[in-house]
Amino acid sequence: MKKLTANEVRQMFLDFFESKDHTILEPASLVPVDDPTLLWINSGVATIKKYFDGTEEPPNVRLANSQKSIRTNDIENVGYTARHHTLFEMLGNFSIGDYFKEEAIVWAWELLTSKEWYAMDPEKLSVTIYPEDEEAKRIWQDVVGLPKDRIIELEENFWDIGAGPSGPNTEIFYDRGQEYNDLDENHPESFAGGENERWLEIWNIVFSQFNHLPDDTYEPLPNQNIDAGMGLERMIALSQDALTNFETDLFLPIIEKISAISDKVYGKDEVKNTSFRIIADHIRAVTFAVSDGALPSNDGRGYILRRLIRRSVLHGQKLGIREPFLTDLVPVVNEVMGDYYTSLKENEDFVKKIIKREEDRFHETLADGLAILNDLISDLEENNEKTIDGASAFKLYDTYGFPYELTEEFAQERKLAVDEAGFNQEMEAQRERARAARSTEQSMSIQSDVFKDLEEDTEFTGYTETEDTAKIIYMVADGKVQEAIEPGQRGEIVFEQTPFYAEKGGQVGDTGYVYDGSGQVVAEVLDVQSAPGGQNLHIIESVQHLDVKENYCLEIDVQRRELIKRNHTATHLMHQALRDILGEHVHQAGSLVAPDLLRFDFSHLQPVSSEEIAEIEDLVNQKIWDSIPLETIETDIKTAKDMGAQALFGEKYGEEVRVVCISDYSRELCGGTHVSNTSEIGLFKITQETGVGAGVRRIFAQTSQGAFDWLEEQLQILDQSKALLKAQTRQDVPAKIMSQQDQIKKLEAELESLKHQMANEEAESVFEDVQEIEGVRFIASVTNVNDMSQLRDLADQWKQGDFSDILVLGLEDSGKANLLVAMKPLMIEKGLKAGDLIKEISQHIKGGGGGRPDMAQAGGSYPEGLDRAIDAVSEWIQEEI
Ligand code: ATP
Ligand code: MG
Repeated sequence: MKKLTANEVRQMFLDFFESKDHTILEPASLVPVDDPTLLWINSGVATIKKYFDGTEEPPNVRLANSQKSIRTNDIENVGYTARHHTLFEMLGNFSIGDYFKEEAIVWAWELLTSKEWYAMDPEKLSVTIYPEDEEAKRIWQDVVGLPKDRIIELEENFWDIGAGPSGPNTEIFYDRGQEYNDLDENHPESFAGGENERWLEIWNIVFSQFNHLPDDTYEPLPNQNIDAGMGLERMIALSQDALTNFETDLFLPIIEKISAISDKVYGKDEVKNTSFRIIADHIRAVTFAVSDGALPSNDGRGYILRRLIRRSVLHGQKLGIREPFLTDLVPVVNEVMGDYYTSLKENEDFVKKIIKREEDRFHETLADGLAILNDLISDLEENNEKTIDGASAFKLYDTYGFPYELTEEFAQERKLAVDEAGFNQEMEAQRERARAARSTEQSMSIQSDVFKDLEEDTEFTGYTETEDTAKIIYMVADGKVQEAIEPGQRGEIVFEQTPFYAEKGGQVGDTGYVYDGSGQVVAEVLDVQSAPGGQNLHIIESVQHLDVKENYCLEIDVQRRELIKRNHTATHLMHQALRDILGEHVHQAGSLVAPDLLRFDFSHLQPVSSEEIAEIEDLVNQKIWDSIPLETIETDIKTAKDMGAQALFGEKYGEEVRVVCISDYSRELCGGTHVSNTSEIGLFKITQETGVGAGVRRIFAQTSQGAFDWLEEQLQILDQSKALLKAQTRQDVPAKIMSQQDQIKKLEAELESLKHQMANEEAESVFEDVQEIEGVRFIASVTNVNDMSQLRDLADQWKQGDFSDILVLGLEDSGKANLLVAMKPLMIEKGLKAGDLIKEISQHIKGGGGGRPDMAQAGGSYPEGLDRAIDAVSEWIQEEI
């Protein structure tokens, strides 16, 4: 095979299929758009499912792409096999009801072997086919001329993921020679199609020709499709004659960086090599995923990222790296991949921040896990047990990210074993759960065929018009295509042209009315959505009989639309203002543009401060008051991007795009409706800022009348406060509050001094009541003071004077009883101790306490016993003296 760089291998594939009339698609975001069934884009076909199942019309029936993909089920293979990654690029070519087996096979062979293209040695190639696929066999044998012994029949070559399209496939293998094999030449798996390292699977061509029905029978699909995927990294490894995918220009720069950080050499020791490879693989996946808007978290996608980061840290530890290091690899990944994936470099700072935070947190978790493991080991040692049970080992793995080997290592140090079977059992149970989740994740829906005959394009006239006359071209009610809709019925209608906007890009659909020629209302339009073919679908409730092919007058709710327009343009202004004030890492993560408010989600790590909010509002309002005219430009995607137009994360755009420009302040790709001058927005006000998930903030804002009403409401709150404070004007409110606060402070001080005075008076009365037994003078009484600290104040006063030899005070405070005992030195010399006395009398308050010989305190739960406790003092003195 020709020696090529990674970029050349990719480009050659795309060029080849372009020469076969394929439209080349831009890579889509790794985060699936509008597809809740998929966690990640995991193949080329995943991004274009919608063309296969008919939910959207393709730009061409022949498509090709190089699509970044993440496969979580290959995580455990990475680093151990030469050929698996979590993130890899799949070079795909697709036929949507166009060419089929013959072209797909013949072109694959041409691209691989022709001198003009990859120029592989044809002798090295073998293929596998489905045993019953006579046609594929014939094409490989007779058209391509491949010898029979290199066409291997395999039962498993049938692509089937349950209900949905399915069909046989054919896979192409490259023979790397026995020296690459990890198996003996006579091993049963040692053949093209077996699980080994000698024959490398490079290309899988799926002939999707059946529909797998729910009752497990198969019927032929009306459209036969081709879905073919080739692994870019594997092709590069072959082209660069690399030992594994990792010894290529895609991975070596990353590996070299890891080597510099760890001060370990790659290629010397197979265990360390695996760690190098795993880190290099994972950091690519994490960098791409975060750049595409995914963030580490505890479930779903986020959990995968968390696992990848944790595994990288642990493998770093195996290489002796103790400090956080992953962020240093991000620029290297971006250097290698940034030419084709240009947004990587734009998002570099943000990606680094996210990874840094996660890596730091994991270092903390590891320390926690280690503490738990140590406790566990100590417990076992105490009970003379020798084995860490499987569930505990699994918990360490699952919660604290400890791989089994790490737990085992620590256990061995303390001469303990780990129940590996138990651990595996837990692990298997978890895998089972994951498998169950995956199979539901992959099923592909079959086109619902109510819209299958709707081929005509319709025109949206609502950029300039608010009313229009148009013919009905398609009607659906009760799930069926209809010729007419009767009064009171709900239905979905498509008009030849319409001023009604269909919900898209966050902007809600228009509402309004359908009239007949005489101005009578025929139907109310409740909402507008897009049909699979992109036509505007009016969801209506009819008032009168409606006929297909008839003309009607359409009129949108203009006032509502005006409000929506203001909120939409304000959203663009705010998006730019957020980037200006908070930084370029801000990316839209979702939005809602409704008549009464706008809601905007965006990537940002910490809450937006009130100062920042003020700055953002200020900037947006400035642009509103500058009365900037808006301009929309229709152009192709490339020109738009060159103009610096903001495209949204993961959003797919057609060839023709619309750029909404607010002079050169904001440029966004957008199909929505906007004001013609920013001054129409009038006023902009952010009403709320909150967090939604890790690293995503949400802002609610209002414009024009809504913003004014909101401010009015705030003023009303202020007026209420004014009335309560009895202030003359709103301006007086803060001064009033301050003077009241002063007054409160003064009153508090007065109260404090009064309390003090009362305590003194209390002391005087308490200290007057002195009793005497056998020459010992003692004071014992329940007091009226407020709390324990005042009780102690009393004791201090007592100490300073000569009121008695022993002091015993009681207090009831919030349902609890307190006792305090103090002794003069003379008593202590006689052998009496405050602690002994309190122990004796605190029984009566169901409590306990203690202290020094000269001073002791006790608390109890039975205040009713206080008097009894005080009475018991004299008995005690009598006995002790
Ligand atoms: P394998 O058996 O080697 O795991 P596969 O059968 O899972 O491959 P397909 O689902 O047919 O692969 O994907 C099409 C092509 O994508 C494969 O022929 C291969 O070249 C590539 N590919 C698949 N999985 C990976 C991966 N984890 N890392 C790198 N390339 C991959
Ligand atoms: Mg696989």
